[in-house]
Amino acid sequence: MRSEMTKMFGKKYFINPETLRVERVRLSRGQQIRYYLFIGLGMIALAVLLRYGFERYYPTPRQMLYEQENTQLRSEYLALNNNLQMVESQLSTMRSRDDDFYRSILSLEPVPSSIREAGTGGSETYTQFKNIREPGLVRNVSQRIDKISNRVQIQSSSLESVYEEAVSNQFFLASRPSINPISPADPFWMTSSYGYRKDPFNGRRTAHHGIDLAGPYGLNIHASGGGTVISAHISRFGYGKEVTVDHGFGYVSRYAHLQEILVEKGQKLKRGEVIGTLGSTGRSTGPHLHYEVRKNGHYVNPMYFFYENLSPQEYTLLAAKAASPAGPFQSFALSQK
Ligand SMILES: [Zn+2]
Repeated sequence: MRSEMTKMFGKKYFINPETLRVERVRLSRGQQIRYYLFIGLGMIALAVLLRYGFERYYPTPRQMLYEQENTQLRSEYLALNNNLQMVESQLSTMRSRDDDFYRSILSLEPVPSSIREAGTGGSETYTQFKNIREPGLVRNVSQRIDKISNRVQIQSSSLESVYEEAVSNQFFLASRPSINPISPADPFWMTSSYGYRKDPFNGRRTAHHGIDLAGPYGLNIHASGGGTVISAHISRFGYGKEVTVDHGFGYVSRYAHLQEILVEKGQKLKRGEVIGTLGSTGRSTGPHLHYEVRKNGHYVNPMYFFYENLSPQEYTLLAAKAASPAGPFQSFALSQK
């Protein structure tokens, strides 16, 4: 008589016609097992859900600690990033001082950018950070540290070669054409740099083997390094009144378009000594000095050799010492040739 069967609270009941009482339907063993299994799994699922839901809104003390640590690590990373920035800019200063000053004085070629900036592995090297919540930050710091250590290594080996070169080249240093032939205390400006340019006379693209420094007529022109005058005459090639100085070690400098020549062939010179005055003789469109440097017969950019940091005072002092009979560079100048 299961026709009057009814359901209450998910359980099956029926009215027993004999006793007229509501009785529960007895389940088979298999049905019971399935029933309890179902209840059990449901409870486990509920427990898991509750746990995650709870943790989401009510983190455990341990989670809170992790969270705190995370925040701290993050701010430490940011601080580290800032420090790295400082180190990087210091390295950049060292690098430019190295290339533009130390290496140039010693006629060492600047270290090529390709070597200086040589990377240490691509981004795949840093894939170990991909599981971190902010992999960018950590990867960035790691990459920068790698780059910095690379740069430090290159810098230190560069300085090592600079040191060796400096020790073995003290005489050479005194004679190299390494100062601007016009004092920074005087008014002048560069009108043409080394390299290719449009020729001021015919407009054609031609190589300019030196630099042009314009200024007022009569400005003192100084020897850029110690040496011997090998020619002081009027050029047959349009350079006007020109002086050529042999500095030894394969270096020769030329000062052209002078208004006046104040030295003679064979004369020993000290760095900074006045050799003539600025003019516009020869193939020239206005008062300027054409200054060029050759090394072993090849033209080189004279700018590579300038001491960029010589102040007007230092330059004046140097020129004054050079003009005095017992200047500090005399022994050097005399020691060559
Ligand atoms: Zn020129």
